[in-house]
Amino acid sequence: MKPVCPFVKAARPDDASLKKLGENQNKHQAGHEGKAKQQESGESASISPKCPFGYDSQTFKIGPFSCMICQALLFESSRCVPCSHVYCKACISRFKDCPLCGADIEKIEADTNLQNVVDRFIEGHARIKRSQVNTDEEEVPGEKKTVIYEDVSLDRGAFLVQQAMRAFRAHNIESAKSRLSICAEDIREQMGRMGNTSELCSQLGAVLGSLGDCCRAMGDAGSAVSYFEESVNFLLKVPNDDLEITHTLSVSLNKIGDLRYYDGDLQAARSYYFQSLNVRRDAIKNHPNASSQILDVAVSLAKVADVDRNIGNEDTAIEGFQEAVKLLESMKLNSEDVALEQRRLSVLEFLNNQLAQKQADSAP
Ligand SMILES: [Zn+2]
Ligand SMILES: [Zn+2]
Repeated sequence: MKPVCPFVKAARPDDASLKKLGENQNKHQAGHEGKAKQQESGESASISPKCPFGYDSQTFKIGPFSCMICQALLFESSRCVPCSHVYCKACISRFKDCPLCGADIEKIEADTNLQNVVDRFIEGHARIKRSQVNTDEEEVPGEKKTVIYEDVSLDRGAFLVQQAMRAFRAHNIESAKSRLSICAEDIREQMGRMGNTSELCSQLGAVLGSLGDCCRAMGDAGSAVSYFEESVNFLLKVPNDDLEITHTLSVSLNKIGDLRYYDGDLQAARSYYFQSLNVRRDAIKNHPNASSQILDVAVSLAKVADVDRNIGNEDTAIEGFQEAVKLLESMKLNSEDVALEQRRLSVLEFLNNQLAQKQADSAP
């Protein structure tokens, strides 16, 4: 698939009606698109229309709206003095020299004009999406059209999540949180119109879970727990036969458990780990051959058992560790599953250490 301009409404790369537009615009793209052109030579008629702001996934990493450090859309755009290169504030604050030109950074200055354009760019997606219902005459009334952004089929939500994940990986957590918040708002707005459909609930559950991750990374445990709990509530509304959803649900529960654990509230931690364990047990009832889910169950058993040991329920703890060992020893893995096998062995080693610890403790 070819990259598609987010400002061309609902343009799919294979949309025949756009071919002419693509041809025409192609004539104006002299020079800087050389590489993309080469790749597409011989099929120039299918080149996608270009964004007036220059957005293009093939050049996006060095695009004027993106930060070279986190490779996501600029957040709190900041200009280096004296070289004038622009990055997110959080990203460039970790550097003494400009990563693009190597110049010493004397100071950084907020570039509010550029940031306004970036923010309008993000908001523009929403306007295009909303205006479709009224302006597109061929639109079937009530039909939901999807706006495509990058070279894969990204609607606005997926686009924002992608930007958030890039920012998060680059430790620009504020940026990630901001994108995810817009995304959550979008989904809530859709829920207002369409009701709590399974799809929207699972999307919102996932986005809220990521917001929880952001808060956790920023050291805000209280907000993280709130987001994870809200995530759990939405994921519980979804039928539990989808492994990806049950995985997200169980992970959110474990994350609350972890935060409670580090907070010293072991009973609460156990309760969340136990809920997660039950979600995972149910998942393997429906999918008995899903190896990574079996591993998840073993990890959950270990988490519950670890708390049991710490609150003095030693016998229950031993039972839990033993059950997990049995589960892992009976696992059948394909020889190609190298990563999974490594994980299995490391969990098994942990469990055996836990059991050995008991024997050492009780030795005369
Ligand atoms: Zn950045
Ligand atoms: Zn520079």
